[in-house]
Amino acid sequence: MAESKNFIHQIIDEELLPEGRVNGKTIHTRFPPEPNGYLHIGHAKALEIDFGTAEAYNGMCNLRMDDTNPTKEDVEFVEAIMEDIHWLGHDWGDRFFYASDYFDKMYEYAVELIRKGLAYVCELTPEQMHEMRGDTQTPATSPFRDRPVEESLDLFARMKAGEFEDGAMTLRARIDLTSGNFNMRDPVIYRINHLPHHRTGNKWCIYPMYDFAHPIEDALEGITHSLCSLEFESHRPLYDWVVNNISVECKPRQIEFARLGITHTVLSKRKLRAMIEAGTVTGWDDPRMPTLCGLRRRGYTPESIHNFSEKNGVAKVNSVVDFAFLEYCLREDLNANAKRAMAVIHPIKLIIDNYPSGKREEFDVENNPQDESAGTRKVPFSRELYIESEDFMEVPAQKYFRLYPGNEVRLKSAYIVKCKGCDKDSDGNVIAVHCEYDASSRGGNPADGRKIKSTIHWVDANDCVDAEIRLYDRLFTTEQPDLADCNYLDFINPDSLTVVTGAKVERSLAKAAPSDRFQFLRTGYFCADSKDSGPNHLVFNRAVSLKDSYKPQ
Ligand code: ATP
Ligand code: MG
Repeated sequence: MAESKNFIHQIIDEELLPEGRVNGKTIHTRFPPEPNGYLHIGHAKALEIDFGTAEAYNGMCNLRMDDTNPTKEDVEFVEAIMEDIHWLGHDWGDRFFYASDYFDKMYEYAVELIRKGLAYVCELTPEQMHEMRGDTQTPATSPFRDRPVEESLDLFARMKAGEFEDGAMTLRARIDLTSGNFNMRDPVIYRINHLPHHRTGNKWCIYPMYDFAHPIEDALEGITHSLCSLEFESHRPLYDWVVNNISVECKPRQIEFARLGITHTVLSKRKLRAMIEAGTVTGWDDPRMPTLCGLRRRGYTPESIHNFSEKNGVAKVNSVVDFAFLEYCLREDLNANAKRAMAVIHPIKLIIDNYPSGKREEFDVENNPQDESAGTRKVPFSRELYIESEDFMEVPAQKYFRLYPGNEVRLKSAYIVKCKGCDKDSDGNVIAVHCEYDASSRGGNPADGRKIKSTIHWVDANDCVDAEIRLYDRLFTTEQPDLADCNYLDFINPDSLTVVTGAKVERSLAKAAPSDRFQFLRTGYFCADSKDSGPNHLVFNRAVSLKDSYKPQ
């Protein structure tokens, strides 16, 4: 279906034609995360584009840690990044690299540029460089750009040898001081930084700038298409300049796509880290975080994230997507695929006065009415049950059709019961509701076909387990907490987590694995918490409520 192809795939199709740039070649992309944090839902979009494009063309996608910056890198992040990519179903085969693997090569290419008269050592301080950068009417000035090649070679070697302090000198590409694109006004390509690197140790005290390093990494790995987000668009001429002026065979092409933004959250690793450090959330995998591990722990499925990325499409203009759309995609997946179960979040006893005490029976209940292959389970029933306290009102409000004295409701999959009243404690609080059941309505269908307005869920009080339930809401109270002129931390939602203890759930849920997702009837979609839930203390996270506030166009 050519017409539904995104603009990147349209470009690639053209380039694969007989006269095209990559005719006869294998399409080769890369995903280059900086290992300074965990991947988030924005990265999922880049993953879909990088890995997804390779998959669509039967090509390859490399995983490359962008570790040219010697600060804040950690194996924890590298391992987490790998786990998240695998969780989304992508694989890099044996092509896992570090940008720092190419430091020697990058140094050689820098020397090549100096020899060609295309780079020079500059002794301006950052402030001086800033002052001399010119403006749209005035070219930049650069007093060192005509320094003899031999002198630059010597100084660059001594920069590498550690003879100079941080900031004393830089290596600059000699491109065009008059360019309308400021990235081309003799950009810095190497700087001095006396910091150990977590992979190369103390070998280097000069480090390449991203704009110089990235095209080299791509070219050395044989990347055909370097797909990146829109902020690199004005850097593309520099990218091309680098690959065209060093001796590499492969000339990759950079194509930019719009970044994904999402409402009611922030998507910058730095900001996410600050929330962890401030104790606003418990960690990278807090179920309120927009990180992939947070979403996974919350109950999101890989399919829901694929669908979200796919439905958002690939555009050239940045956009902010409603968080509700992500929830819509999850609900759509779980409605079709999650098992159903009964859980009473705020329990109150329901006693069936005319049901023999000591009697027990079981109902065969479908695990998923939308999917026969999900099978059935046995749900126990006896004289005492738990129901939601809000399903009883001693004095019914208008249009209240659930339990109140004299009214009938259906106990889901079990019987029709008629409310007879309630017991109260000395303070007047309802402690138990009484009813009588219609023995001829087994399965929940009255023998005479009379109409029953409400169906409520329940669990057997003699055969259920306790659980803690964690209900989540938006992390921020405002749609765009990270607009430039405000402090996002001022908009944290104080009610983003509500913990309910003493919920009563079906015994079948005692064995729920975190990767099992459930629809708790009438309450929402849940999964067992991967960190805190165990056989002696069940904890369920609400992934998303049942109600859909989002209406797709
Ligand atoms: P952050 O600000 O979250 O740290 P980043 O761009 O610095 O983001 P990287 O680890 O460098 O994070 O990103 C790896 C890849 O993911 C890059 O190609 C980047 O363009 C892409 N990416 C990051 N955030 C988004 C986003 N919100 N939407 C689309 N792509 C993104
Ligand atoms: Mg980055």
